[in-house]
Amino acid sequence: MLLNIPLVDLSAQHESIRDEMIEAMAGVVDSSQFILGDELRSFEAEFAQYCQVPYCVGVGNGTEALHLALRALGVGPGDEVITAANTFIATALAIAHSGAEAVLVDVDPDGYSMDAGLLEDAITPRTKAIIPVHLYGHPANMSDVLAIADRHDIPVVEDASQAHGALYKGQRVGSFGRMACFSFYPGKNLGALGDGGAVVTGDIELAERLRLLRHFGQVGKNVHSGIGFNSRLDTLQAAALRVKLRKLEEWNGLRRTAAGLYQNLLSETDLVLPAEHPDCTHVYHLYVVQHEERDRLNDALASAGVHCGIHYPTALHEQEPFRHARTVPHGAPVAVERSRNMLSLPMFPGLDEEKVKYVAEQVCSALGATVVR
Ligand SMILES: *Cc1c(COP(=O)(O)O)cnc(C)c1O
Repeated sequence: MLLNIPLVDLSAQHESIRDEMIEAMAGVVDSSQFILGDELRSFEAEFAQYCQVPYCVGVGNGTEALHLALRALGVGPGDEVITAANTFIATALAIAHSGAEAVLVDVDPDGYSMDAGLLEDAITPRTKAIIPVHLYGHPANMSDVLAIADRHDIPVVEDASQAHGALYKGQRVGSFGRMACFSFYPGKNLGALGDGGAVVTGDIELAERLRLLRHFGQVGKNVHSGIGFNSRLDTLQAAALRVKLRKLEEWNGLRRTAAGLYQNLLSETDLVLPAEHPDCTHVYHLYVVQHEERDRLNDALASAGVHCGIHYPTALHEQEPFRHARTVPHGAPVAVERSRNMLSLPMFPGLDEEKVKYVAEQVCSALGATVVR
């Protein structure tokens, strides 16, 4: 029987909390408090606690979270900010929005994140921040990144947009850097019913600066202390996110269960399967495999009703806005090679055993391998 399995299906997660979310949003409608207010403050407090940090500032989206975090650090024209050569383009766009230049470090050959062994080569006197990305839901090598950053006195801003709830050495990602940025784009592990984002931090001064930056630089009615932006997390979204946050642990658990099944069923193929470092708890925002014949496999799966994704089909410096970005080492060859081999298999809470088995069977049949049972 031919099944049809999308890369991401949000309907299963929404089914169980639909009424609760609508009730929470109706409460916002009844209060007429659509911008800032109690519901946003409550979400911020709950998400900060979840991330094991004192402060959370809700902003318009994940890109703005990164942009405002860099602004809060005073990053601007003439500065450099280091990030990974293989991330969603928004990480680098946020650097460009701040006026700084993005410097792109190649990928760790054994993982998905920036190769911390190359970080020192990327640092110059102009480096004002380092943005490790917890790509696909797997934490970056924070011990090494933080040690190098500390040695050079450079602040670290985590891009945790794909890793809500992931753990590094038993501690939540988002609690390691001076700040950490999250996206609540609907398909993320914690997703809103539209756009949303947040910055979390342990530094009260940075939290206050972020609150000004997201709200016109306003310190009091008609009193503005700087060039602020209009980038708040919508109160309606905060209400929905409060309901969803209570399910995040369960949903991440379902992702891990599905990943475990994939891991067993695909162990006899020649795919490179995602590895979980012993220090890390992966939350599988994406389940990314590697194969030399990625495009053939992708086409065969699509014909069998299995819809995969590619994250991402190019390295950042292969995209027009970052064509002239400095790469370390030159050309970031691992990131380029990976972009040709990567394939994201369907992954979402609600991807049950039957569906995982179907995907695995189709993968094995396309590769001429046997499914392990
Ligand atoms: C989704 C994402 C962003 C951007 O978030 P938006 O809310 O879509 O602006 C930034 N970085 C990474 C790694 C992401 O996955």
